[in-house]
Amino acid sequence: MSQSGSGTATAAREATGLTYQRCRWCGTASFRRLLCPVCQSSDMRTESSEGHGVVVRTTVVHRYTEYARNESLVRFPEGFMFRCRIIGTPPQLVWPGARVRPASGADLSTGEVVLETVDKVEHDPWR
Ligand SMILES: [Zn+2]
Repeated sequence: MSQSGSGTATAAREATGLTYQRCRWCGTASFRRLLCPVCQSSDMRTESSEGHGVVVRTTVVHRYTEYARNESLVRFPEGFMFRCRIIGTPPQLVWPGARVRPASGADLSTGEVVLETVDKVEHDPWR
């Protein structure tokens, strides 16, 4: 039960605050899981994600209410996917392939993961 290696080399990557778990046995990355999704090991170590993900699938929740919000499945460069809320773009205009990053001010350690789009929507109403 020793926690080693924290505190020195990780500082440069702490900016996003997004961390994930990597299995010590098979190397599979996962997010907010107690067991490895591949080998069921509970021997996971926490690593910092680069934080920039890509939208794989996107849906609008409560589409016809004023509380419409986006819910997207996002793939992160470390290899895990997670369902997140996307802001910074109208919910129905988030597109698969959009690059996203942790929203500024979002607390990623608990609760809902909120990301914002990196690129602006190219929305041309006149076409
Ligand atoms: Zn594993």
